[in-house]
Amino acid sequence: MSPVIPIRTQSAGCDDQPVLRERGQREVFCGLTGIIWLHRKIQDAFFLVVGSRTCAHLIQSAAGVMIFAEPRFATAIIDERDLAGLADANEELDRVVTRLLERRPDIRMLFLVGSCPSEVIKLDLSRAAQRLGARFSPNVRVLNYSGSGIETTFTQGEDACLASMVESMPVAQASAAPSLLVVGTLPDVVEDQFRRLFGEMGVGPVDFFPPRDSGGLAPIGPNTRILLAQPFLGETARLLEARGASRLAALFPFGEEGTTAWLKAAADAWGVSDERFEAAVGPSRERARRALARQREQLAGRSVFFFPDSQLELPLARFLSRELGMSLVEVGTPYLHRQHMAPELALLPQGTQLSEGQDVERQLDRCRTARPDIVVCGLGLANPLESEGMTTKWSIELVFTPVHGYEQAADLAELFSRPLLRRSKIAA
Ligand code: SF4
Repeated sequence: MSPVIPIRTQSAGCDDQPVLRERGQREVFCGLTGIIWLHRKIQDAFFLVVGSRTCAHLIQSAAGVMIFAEPRFATAIIDERDLAGLADANEELDRVVTRLLERRPDIRMLFLVGSCPSEVIKLDLSRAAQRLGARFSPNVRVLNYSGSGIETTFTQGEDACLASMVESMPVAQASAAPSLLVVGTLPDVVEDQFRRLFGEMGVGPVDFFPPRDSGGLAPIGPNTRILLAQPFLGETARLLEARGASRLAALFPFGEEGTTAWLKAAADAWGVSDERFEAAVGPSRERARRALARQREQLAGRSVFFFPDSQLELPLARFLSRELGMSLVEVGTPYLHRQHMAPELALLPQGTQLSEGQDVERQLDRCRTARPDIVVCGLGLANPLESEGMTTKWSIELVFTPVHGYEQAADLAELFSRPLLRRSKIAA
């Protein structure tokens, strides 16, 4: 039996509910998947996966399905000779990197991305990154992180990538004015919306991490305030805090409520008056409320079951229940970061079934018994559940699609209402 372990917290909402902790077979994508959105964000970066043909297929098929592929990622294939120890994998890697950088002088930041095979043959990519970094500096900065899927879930790839960059961020002067760093990959259009709102409130200077190009790494120091835009960046936040930055606790900016609370956390840290805050966010917030009211008509009273996958589950569950009137059957998350999730937990309805980790067969049994109106899960579970007559939403789509902020709040809701509408049309 999976143990039920109570978590200790304060009082309100769902934060004193027991959490079902499961440690069984898991159905998740690996951290290589993050390359798909990261390579679009950092325009002069290149991601070289050091992996097998399976890794290459994963990246290419994900990129091919989700976006127009651009040549800013590739796989250096570890073949049988490497696995058998017959070839010097370091020499081969150096040769591949040299050829790549000669052909592509536009690359300013190169990530060597580890995989299950590179870990199996114990290829030390951090030493390789140091060696190659020394050789190609100052034109190219070489970093490394692991996207291996053995013990991770797919959004951890972004956490590992951002964490690998923290050391390269310049030191902010102790006397520097307070600055805000928004942490987590956001589409440029969303970043621009937030930048405008912060500007109207008088909050700044504001930087975004990751930056749009490798030269835009923000300085970090004791006067840096960080605001997490994504809920899966535990290691990155820890490293930024170790550099002296302090984290502003807030809801994540999903839906009108989450976005308002997230912006308010920054406004409060800058001493912005309520009047100025209202003047800045009021029009966008009203637009979001009106657009969400239409979505609420479709979604209120419907039930949703989250399998653990993207680590967005808790903030999305809070949004779906509080702003759209959906009922939460189970909210699964791969990892529960209690500190970062405290504001979210406090707003989940009392009695929500939370689960952490996965024992996929048991969870499927619970889902089949509950027959929720919609199931949020990874691609591997979606097709079988659809074939059983259930309506699903791919969790990975929630990371690929612009969903943060006021202007995207209704689009986020529509990601849930559209499959339900499609299912009702098929049934009619
Ligand atoms: S799970 Fe491992 S082997 Fe499979 S694609 Fe990911 S890194 Fe490669």
